[in-house]
Amino acid sequence: MISSHALDLAQTLVRMNTVSQNSNLELIHFIRDHLAKLGVKSRLTYNADKTKANLFATLGEGKASGIILSGHTDTVPWDGQDWTMDPLSALVKDGNLYGRGSADMKAFIGIAVSHAEQFLASDAPFAVHFAFSYDEEVGCFGVKELIADLRDANIRPLACIVGEPTSMVPAIAHKGVYRYKCCVRGKEAHSSLTPHSVNAIEMAARVVGRVRDMAEGFERDEPRFEGFDVPFSTASVGQFHGGIADNVVPRDAEFRYEFRDLPTANAAQMQSEVVAYARSLEPAMQKVAPQTGFSFETICEIPSFLGSKDDAVTRLAQELSGEKGTTLVAFGTEAGLFKNAGIPTVVCGPGSIQQAHQPDEYVSLEQLGRCEAFMQGLASTKAFG
Ligand SMILES: [Zn+2]
Repeated sequence: MISSHALDLAQTLVRMNTVSQNSNLELIHFIRDHLAKLGVKSRLTYNADKTKANLFATLGEGKASGIILSGHTDTVPWDGQDWTMDPLSALVKDGNLYGRGSADMKAFIGIAVSHAEQFLASDAPFAVHFAFSYDEEVGCFGVKELIADLRDANIRPLACIVGEPTSMVPAIAHKGVYRYKCCVRGKEAHSSLTPHSVNAIEMAARVVGRVRDMAEGFERDEPRFEGFDVPFSTASVGQFHGGIADNVVPRDAEFRYEFRDLPTANAAQMQSEVVAYARSLEPAMQKVAPQTGFSFETICEIPSFLGSKDDAVTRLAQELSGEKGTTLVAFGTEAGLFKNAGIPTVVCGPGSIQQAHQPDEYVSLEQLGRCEAFMQGLASTKAFG
């Protein structure tokens, strides 16, 4: 069962509205001030207009290196969802803590922070770092700044535990999420004069067809990565807009698409293939009208993650959670970014992704109790590696 101190902190964080489009400073300042009372200084890194911040703190100053507990402070919105309660109420009912962000992933952050004193008093050979980011839900933008700051400050953590909801089972892989927008500029004309026009929709459709061909290629040819529900990379077009009237050759079209690449695949190469194909269509378009062509915009690039059963941090997470196995998850996290920065990483946190982003999101008190035991175990760990 979770202690009232830890539950209190989790509830306090759930009650703060940190939907990604809003500022998260109330929450960040709350944690900063909480840690300051314990004599712990926080490093804050901000977004461009200083409305959002990441927090990084080290508990166990003077120790050579530390293990990161990582979480994102932002949540998805609840507009249009059918909640039976206030999403910010942090209601405890029927053995669950309800609220937006309860599972994804404020309870993990709250329980971690509620153990700050234990981490400070710990005689573990490593420090514990808190790394709490902004804008994960909209593309993992905040943590990139946080990781760059660690590099600049020459802070080299030993390992990282990302507390996304895995039902406390250590997860060692997920796919990446790469999203792009493609805008096509054509040349409009009366639809009886097509040879003097460049049809933006038709050109866009050719590239959409290429994305579809690639998706079929992944399904047909890609070496399988067993353990994922879909054991190959996927590609998909999510939005398409274009045209103004039946008798006008459209000047503009745009579409958005994504790749979810296996940890063993290469998303950058997938995107290069799309761009190269679009470029190959441009000479014919520009013969009709030189101003025509394609432009691409990156929406988000969240790298895939591949840890290892043999990593010390995976074994530590197994020991602390009491789980013998490991799992793979279907959702993107910040784990790949930490891993790509040279920090061995595992994903392990309370609650289930089934409840995340849903109306009446919740995390069970049983899961929170397991998370608390995990933190207590971390504070009393005697060796690592
Ligand atoms: Zn999350």
